Amino acid sequence: MAVHILDAMAREGFEQVLALHDRASGLRGFLGLHDTRQGPAFGGIRRLAYRDEKAALLDCLRLSKAMTEKCVLADLPAGGGKLVIMDREGLDLERAYRHVGRVVEQLGGRFYTGPDMGTGQRELGWVAAETRYATQPGDAGPGLLAESTAAGVFAGIRAALGQVFGSPRVAERTVVVQGLGQVGERLAALLIEGGAHVFGAEVDSERAQRVSAELGVELVPPGSEFRVPCDVFAPCAQGGILHDLSLEGLASRIVAGAANNVLARGIDGDRLHERGILYVPDVVICSGAVIRGAIFHLEGRRESLERIGERVGRTCERILQRAAEEDESPARVATREALERLGDSLDAPDSEPTPAAPR
Ligand code: NAD
Repeated sequence: MAVHILDAMAREGFEQVLALHDRASGLRGFLGLHDTRQGPAFGGIRRLAYRDEKAALLDCLRLSKAMTEKCVLADLPAGGGKLVIMDREGLDLERAYRHVGRVVEQLGGRFYTGPDMGTGQRELGWVAAETRYATQPGDAGPGLLAESTAAGVFAGIRAALGQVFGSPRVAERTVVVQGLGQVGERLAALLIEGGAHVFGAEVDSERAQRVSAELGVELVPPGSEFRVPCDVFAPCAQGGILHDLSLEGLASRIVAGAANNVLARGIDGDRLHERGILYVPDVVICSGAVIRGAIFHLEGRRESLERIGERVGRTCERILQRAAEEDESPARVATREALERLGDSLDAPDSEPTPAAPR
């Protein structure tokens, strides 16, 4: 199936999509600027071995739009963007990232970028050497973004516990953390410190063993985590993991984690709601990193983890409260609130069906 890019952009209100190619490094990718009406776009760089160009483009569009919702709901004077790099053998990583840095610099501050899957401290160093508009690793930057995400997710879990059980305390609650990576490990540490019992599923067995030994996480085999009876299921690995099959066996009261685009389809949020499982929308709960990054770049200061947690927690409470009052899925409420704040209507506007390209 072809992607009619201009039609897709019109339907979802995208401002600009750049196709990136660099002969010297072998770079292929896309940069999506979804909405900069509230301020410059923020979004990380994802490097992934995409199946094909279409998969990369669609991921770029989906993620950059979600970033707009994230920024708007977090009350940031910022919008959404995303840069995706199609990873493949032979890609000259340093050259590719440096090229990306120059592209970002040319945008003159319309887009600020940072880490995402496949882009860590090393890659950011290459990007930041070419542009002022990237999160600097180390002391020159805003601080570790993963720890701010974990602080936000922890606060979001507390908000959800408050809504479901009448108390935000994590003590004696059971939480399944899927993915014990940068965010998952930190989240597990916060939960255990608060007295929760944490189960963890992690596909990297060496990492899993280390985190388990250091923190006291009880490991479960990856793939079985959906069926572990628990109070909270915290997805901190990949997106798209909640779908027809996984939802069927899900044995938790709450879903609240760091992974972006965790629902495979919008309708899966409705299904969780129908089953009485409280879903804390990803665009609200995993905004700790963009809050830290945007405040650093736009206001020149480093926000404390405590304040980031308070801020994310307040937003989660507001959305969950509204969803309860309206008896609707929190995911729908979050999207609606973001559109309201942007002054947009739900049924989008100026899209004409695009004729298929001539063969
Ligand atoms: P990461 O790569 O450090 O950690 C992900 C971990 O999940 C890895 O250890 C990986 O081995 C594991 N994993 C992958 N697939 C798995 C599976 N099917 N089952 C179990 N484990 C699996 O990434 P991260 O920075 O911790 O981010 C985690 C998620 O949160 C990602 O979806 C990311 O997009 C999202 N997120 C991260 C940040 C941030 O600040 N790092 C901010 C917002 C959203």
